[in-house]
Amino acid sequence: MGKKKIITVDGPAGAGKSTVSKALAKKLGYIYLDTGALYRALAHKALINKISLEDTSALAKMCSSTKVSLKNIDSKMVVLVDGEDVGNKIRTEDVGLAASKISAFAVVRESLLNLQREAGLQGGIVAEGRDMGSIVFPHADYKFYLDANAEERIKRRYSELLAKGAGVEYLAIQKDMMARDNQDSQREIAPLTASIDAIIIDSSDLSVEGVVEKIIQHICAKKVGDSSNH
Ligand code: C5P
Repeated sequence: MGKKKIITVDGPAGAGKSTVSKALAKKLGYIYLDTGALYRALAHKALINKISLEDTSALAKMCSSTKVSLKNIDSKMVVLVDGEDVGNKIRTEDVGLAASKISAFAVVRESLLNLQREAGLQGGIVAEGRDMGSIVFPHADYKFYLDANAEERIKRRYSELLAKGAGVEYLAIQKDMMARDNQDSQREIAPLTASIDAIIIDSSDLSVEGVVEKIIQHICAKKVGDSSNH
């Protein structure tokens, strides 16, 4: 692909962003950046320290006294909070919902902005989240917005959690996902939205390989278009 690029993948929970972004990064030899993990890591810290998820000043204090960093391990950016790998502790629905709550605050988003941008400085990155194409990397080379219908997204999240051995109920997942969708798309700052220059892919009826293939096709088509303009 020549010079290493920035590829952004945004979309709602359960649209398959993580699996697709990971597979895409692997295929291209790029680094995979999961920005949801950054918000989850801060939410996890807030939960264990019993900090109110609605208290902006307490959250601001927590953010300024917390060192969040990224470490490249096998081409995946692992999140460290105060030097500690937060691992799978942040992968629960409760932490996801808490992340969605605190990520609505400007102070939380700003505390993570530079870290995300620095991770993309060298290019060669697939950055996944909600505002990658709109706010964090507005000049990304390729922007994608991955969507799927609500039923499919709930089914996927349910199977994923079941496979991890978590005791989950379908209706509870449905409720959490709807709440998260609502919070993420209605918030004032950096709401979940497909940036105007993003290519929207509906993954409802596609396999992971199918979506990755579509993305690669778009990248190749854009490359050909760009070079024929010069
Ligand atoms: O992607 P994931 O489900 O792990 O993200 C957890 C939450 O973090 C999302 O529901 C969203 O509220 C927030 N988030 C965000 N901006 C990002 C990534 C995640 O606001 N770039």
